[in-house]
Amino acid sequence: MNRRELLCAAASAAVLARAGRLAAQTPRFDLVIKGGRVIDPSLRLDAVRDVGIAAGRIAAVEPTLGAAAATLDARGKLVVPGLIDIHTHAARDAGGPALCLRDGVTCFIDAGSAGADNLDPAVAITKAAPQTGRILVNIGRQGILPDGDTKDLALADVGAARAAIERHRDYVVGLKARLSETVVGKNDVEVLKRAQQVAEPLGLPVMIHMGQSPSSLRELLPILKTGDIVTHMFAPPPNAIVDDAGRLLPEVLAARRRGIVFDVGNGVRDHIRWDIVEQVMRQGFWPDTFSTDWNVMSGTTGVVDFPNCMSKLFGYGMSVPEAIACATVNAAKTFEVFRDRGTLNVGAPADVAILELREGEFEFVDNYENKIKGRQRLFPSETVLKGARVPRA
Ligand SMILES: [Zn+2]
Repeated sequence: MNRRELLCAAASAAVLARAGRLAAQTPRFDLVIKGGRVIDPSLRLDAVRDVGIAAGRIAAVEPTLGAAAATLDARGKLVVPGLIDIHTHAARDAGGPALCLRDGVTCFIDAGSAGADNLDPAVAITKAAPQTGRILVNIGRQGILPDGDTKDLALADVGAARAAIERHRDYVVGLKARLSETVVGKNDVEVLKRAQQVAEPLGLPVMIHMGQSPSSLRELLPILKTGDIVTHMFAPPPNAIVDDAGRLLPEVLAARRRGIVFDVGNGVRDHIRWDIVEQVMRQGFWPDTFSTDWNVMSGTTGVVDFPNCMSKLFGYGMSVPEAIACATVNAAKTFEVFRDRGTLNVGAPADVAILELREGEFEFVDNYENKIKGRQRLFPSETVLKGARVPRA
């Protein structure tokens, strides 16, 4: 090595050293969620891990991660994929989506609040939502009506629904048909057929609100197609998913085999009763998805929040990871728009719910003021949306 080569080598060594120092100073992650119990059923993972986030995406899930611009201490808490609530009424109120977000809900569906005639404001609220929201348009053109969405059959207007979806094809991901007698009168079969007339050519799912319908599910379920959703699956008679002796209807089992999704839809009135939950769970017919049927009043009703609804089946044999699966990976499969959600896989959008699993004595209420006791309950703690910690007001 002559003098010139020596100088060259010294210069490049200095450059390398400087680059090395820079790399050490520039954190690899924008945020690391430290030391929580990460439960991600999509990855079959249940272990204490750090979750590293960079550029709004999950960048690493490892036992320990190094430099980060910010850290969030999750020790003693659960770190799970952002929750997906497929039955809410978050788009009825401008403040709705942000309230759901505090509970860990990073994706929501507004299920039938609005019909063709009042879809535009619901879409505007959904577009303005901080998290990912989409809408099921009510086949009743005026949406939810106190006197019944489609008791007047003329309100189940196929042309109006098609035109409304055409206007908002990017936000409408399916249809909702509410089939209780108080909503449809005797029109349930015809209303459901009309919803399918709109949905089928567009390849969209239909969600039916079951329970207290004039017709039996033996007649209604055959009108559903693969990917359609039955919400309020624990609704008591008339026309529950079980017969008078408490046995699951064969049509219900056949529907699940055909790929029809069964969802909880907690709600406030008429949708869930513990004796039905007991019968259904005992026969091994567990929900595919949880949902709240949320509205701005839910904080003070039996819903409370999504993590509370997820805790209600612990006493019927469901484990914590199984409940998380219902609210994450399973729910992500129901709508195309959620296909990259419900997971902490590296590369996925960094939507994360941090929950507390508390032990103690908790009371859970059904829609009939019946109470059960539970020993565990999930509480919302923090939400990370698109890689950023959501401020807790
Ligand atoms: Zn609802």
